[in-house]
Amino acid sequence: MIDVSMFTVGMVQENCFLVRAEGSDRAVIVDPGEEAPRLLQAIEDAGVTLDAILLTHTHFDHVGAVAPLARATGAPVYCPVIEVPVLQDVMAYVPWPGFGPYESWDPEHTVAGGETLELAGLTLDVVFTPGHSPGHMSLHIRSDGEEGLLTGDVAHHPIQMAHLEWSSTADFDPVQSAVARRELFARFADTPTLVIGGHFGAGQLKRDGGAFRLVV
Ligand SMILES: [Zn+2]
Repeated sequence: MIDVSMFTVGMVQENCFLVRAEGSDRAVIVDPGEEAPRLLQAIEDAGVTLDAILLTHTHFDHVGAVAPLARATGAPVYCPVIEVPVLQDVMAYVPWPGFGPYESWDPEHTVAGGETLELAGLTLDVVFTPGHSPGHMSLHIRSDGEEGLLTGDVAHHPIQMAHLEWSSTADFDPVQSAVARRELFARFADTPTLVIGGHFGAGQLKRDGGAFRLVV
């Protein structure tokens, strides 16, 4: 079984995930965007050692707490290779005033998509889903026959499953973003995989005409 705890953090209300195989004393954290003290407390409360800090992409609302978590836990950071310069200079890429300051970080590992990572007793397939950001990754998590998919910001809202062409104003490449949605959702639709977004909760993807919907 996969045990996922979700923490909605920061003013942008981004979802950070603490993921482990059920009962394990090791875990990974995905997209620690803000509120490092709260996340560190959650790690301590769960009684787990962090094996990795994984990033779907490097928008500030997903990486704001990377540096304090990496320093406090010693866990290595896995960053999309194309977006390493952003993680190394986070504040230079914050588009609005009033956020931060966030500390930059040199990631210990990079991913380009196509990797299979074995971390904390979980198998994590890294799926390249560019569009929202140039190097965006989704994470397909497997453990004991159970599967989950963290989609990051491939979609900001489940309505983009029905309207694949509705891209977010935050998308770097709106056309490619729509392609990424169609490909990713087609792969996981009508499977038992639990799908969880960077800004919405969990459900299962169903085909619906030429598009998809999230059944919660
Ligand atoms: Zn984003």
